[in-house]
Amino acid sequence: MNTILITNAIILTLNSEREIINNGAIFIENGRISKISSTYELDSVNADEVIDSRGQVVLPGLINAHTHTAYYMMRGLGMDRDLLDWLKDVMWPWLMGMDGEDAYLTSLLGYVECIRSGTTSLIDNQNFPFRNNYFYDMAAQAASLTKLRVSFAPGFSDIQFASPPDMVGSLKEIEIECRRMIKTWHCKGRIKICVSPINLLFCSDDSIRMATNLMKEFGVQMHTHVAESKREYDNLKKRFGIGYIEAFSKLGALNENFQSVHSVWITDQEIELMAKSGATAINNPTSNMMLASGVAPVAKMLNKKVNVALGTDSPNNNNDMFEAMKYASLLQKVESLDPLSMSAPKALEMATINGARALQMQDQIGSLEEGKLADIIIVDCLKANTTPMHDPVSTLVYSAKADNVTNVMVQGEFLLRDGRITFLNENKLIEEVQHRADMLRMRVNQKK
Ligand SMILES: [Zn+2]
Repeated sequence: MNTILITNAIILTLNSEREIINNGAIFIENGRISKISSTYELDSVNADEVIDSRGQVVLPGLINAHTHTAYYMMRGLGMDRDLLDWLKDVMWPWLMGMDGEDAYLTSLLGYVECIRSGTTSLIDNQNFPFRNNYFYDMAAQAASLTKLRVSFAPGFSDIQFASPPDMVGSLKEIEIECRRMIKTWHCKGRIKICVSPINLLFCSDDSIRMATNLMKEFGVQMHTHVAESKREYDNLKKRFGIGYIEAFSKLGALNENFQSVHSVWITDQEIELMAKSGATAINNPTSNMMLASGVAPVAKMLNKKVNVALGTDSPNNNNDMFEAMKYASLLQKVESLDPLSMSAPKALEMATINGARALQMQDQIGSLEEGKLADIIIVDCLKANTTPMHDPVSTLVYSAKADNVTNVMVQGEFLLRDGRITFLNENKLIEEVQHRADMLRMRVNQKK
């Protein structure tokens, strides 16, 4: 039996009382939290390994509920555009130019970046050209190497709205591919598969019905971009005469396994529909700011008891969940002119327990409690940017950065140990990805 004892830590449990244990200890047996208490009370426990966490904050692993790791091959490209122009001018041409090894390596580096920002679970919404569907397997292989919990959402579209024809598949082809991905990867290790109409604007009604049937048949979740920008929303309204959430509701897709990414341009009535259905909204504040998409009504959704999780997305240029927490809070304050509209504890909940609810894994992860899986991070707060610390939650949300994270474990297994990635040579990977990005840039420029 493998046992680990973390001692002398400030523990943010995120349990139902949101208890904070000063000078706390956690005993981990075979990947699960078996005891959580004060260091004094667990003093006599024998463990294979003892981690003295003096001056450190220990909390549940963060859950990045929306990113696109492969898009990070285009990090920093095509900025200062709105969503549809960014897709048309940059994302689609570059995605068309990528090869399978690019997909593997850039996804792998994205996962490493997630780990470095204290992430233990993420939803990765990949979207490759349909003819290159084996890219999804390449990226899923990268995910399995990392041992992260990755809900993999291979995006699909069957309407050529503005995208190149290669990004689009027929309804039959898409169903075959969804079934193949579910059968190959769902619940393989820590990987799960979501069905992912990439955006209702690019998807037929029949494709949503097909995906909804797969949700029911396999118990998988649906992950989709909803009402991100005003331009998208206006276009969708032309087709349906109603908003995204109402349309999904009419198509029978809205339930507790529905993940509504962004949800910026939604009405009060749609918020009610989400609350009733148990669906999750996923807020991506830095991305929404970067693309000038707008401000999601997060405070309103939380007040109406909609589960709101947090993601980074990719236009914001990093997978830093600390930045996402801070901006989630600041953006609500600016929008409402009310400093109380989004507190630090609420932002931390979005990044932990609400993320676990989005994954329907709240009984297993998202808080530090006896019996739950040991998805745990250690954040070094004895640093210039986090000292002095009076209120650990405020310090984490408003002052800490990804660089403060020293240790990340998933189910008791270290992915980051004392600041080093445990399962690969990170510097070599960085060099490889830069080289591949240089080659890809040449290929894309030649095609112009
Ligand atoms: Zn996205």
